[in-house]
Amino acid sequence: MTTRRDVRCDVVVIGAGAAGMMCAATAGLRGRRVLLIEHYPILGEKIRISGGGRCNFTNVNTGPANFLSQNPDFCRSALARFTPHDFVALVERYRIGYHEKKLGQLFCDDTARDLIAMLKAECDRGHVDWRMPCPVDGVTREGGAWRVATPMGAVRAESVVVATGGLTVPKIGATPFGYRMAEQFGQAVVAPRPALVPLALPPDALARYGELAGVAVDVEVACGQGRFRENLLFTHRGVSGPAILQISSYWSGGEPLVIDLLPGIDAERLLVDERTSDARLDSVLARHLPQRFAQAWCAAQESVLPMKQLAEKRLRELATRLRAWTLLPSGTQGYNKAEVTLGGVDTRGVSSKTMAATNVAGLYFIGEVVDVTGWLGGYNFQWAWSSGHAAGMHV
Ligand SMILES: Cc1cc2nc3c(=O)[nH]c(=O)nc-3n(C[C@H](O)[C@H](O)[C@H](O)COP(=O)(O)OP(=O)(O)OC[C@H]3O[C@@H](n4cnc5c(N)ncnc54)[C@H](O)[C@@H]3O)c2cc1C
Repeated sequence: MTTRRDVRCDVVVIGAGAAGMMCAATAGLRGRRVLLIEHYPILGEKIRISGGGRCNFTNVNTGPANFLSQNPDFCRSALARFTPHDFVALVERYRIGYHEKKLGQLFCDDTARDLIAMLKAECDRGHVDWRMPCPVDGVTREGGAWRVATPMGAVRAESVVVATGGLTVPKIGATPFGYRMAEQFGQAVVAPRPALVPLALPPDALARYGELAGVAVDVEVACGQGRFRENLLFTHRGVSGPAILQISSYWSGGEPLVIDLLPGIDAERLLVDERTSDARLDSVLARHLPQRFAQAWCAAQESVLPMKQLAEKRLRELATRLRAWTLLPSGTQGYNKAEVTLGGVDTRGVSSKTMAATNVAGLYFIGEVVDVTGWLGGYNFQWAWSSGHAAGMHV
């Protein structure tokens, strides 16, 4: 049976994910009385499943350029005041082994569970109280204080921190609570949508490339302001892999992805130099591309022919297509497959130094619920740590 108990504290943090635990621990260690409310029964599930179980917990090269937001400068202050080095120092204090995989991405040597235990231990050091699992029935402002109603009783506090994350992977606890809460208190919300997400292909493209599921191609993909050189991976439903996950954050539906299939190679020279050869086009391309993909691509261009049967003009045309192959996705694979949610609480209503709502006293938004979305590669956790720390120092 649940015991109902009304309590008072200084700070209520709603959501015990990466940002919520960092904020609660930081505030608790400053001597603030903190209560952390989490509705999901298992602590830190998203941290546990991240980075293939080893959590890519930061990126040593983190900077504002690695984030998408309606206000690209918003993340600058929090990132500068709690940096990847600060988080690494914490990880080292807990003697958690880590390594750099590539491009500045730091992963745990053993398991992401070490990080969850570290964050829980920091909360314990800060004497943080918990209600978990415990849903929030409603939040109201009463007589200059906050009242957070839960089935376990109400909590009164000076400050409420919303750390409920985005909409990805609902089966492990994601809810739109943060956006509803923002709207309830007059904060604008930038329409959320899945990001760092595999993209679906329409039936005609799937008929051509669906059989390549599992084949990876090193490409440079561009869309809008985004451009990434990484692997593209074919799947049964469309395309994925780091290149596609990254560019998905810049794809708003409708526009094609423009893909250089031979980055760093002069495609025109490659083809024209072989114009008298008996070799087929797909064999020539297979020197630089996976063979099955080269065949499928050449078939789509109706050019599975010996090089010497292709006129020079046609070869130049094909080179242009190799440099700028266009692929028009039919949609994303949704919040179940996405790593993050783009959009969220509009930063124009939030202080970049403290994460406090500018028009509502004592209300804070941190982590993924805010309209700040990192690239793939540890940036999203760094934002959770930095924004959680910024609020934790102020509440
Ligand atoms: C599969 C996967 C892999 C990822 N890998 C990486 C990676 O390697 N590196 C990286 O940087 N990023 C990664 N990410 C992104 C990263 O996990 C998130 O950006 C980060 O966890 C956001 O932290 P947060 O604290 O803001 O939100 P979350 O970690 O989502 O935490 C929000 C918490 O709030 C709780 N909550 C929600 N609604 C309520 C409610 N109504 N009442 C009470 N509690 C509530 C949730 O249960 C959850 O515990 C990955 C994401 C996924 C899905």
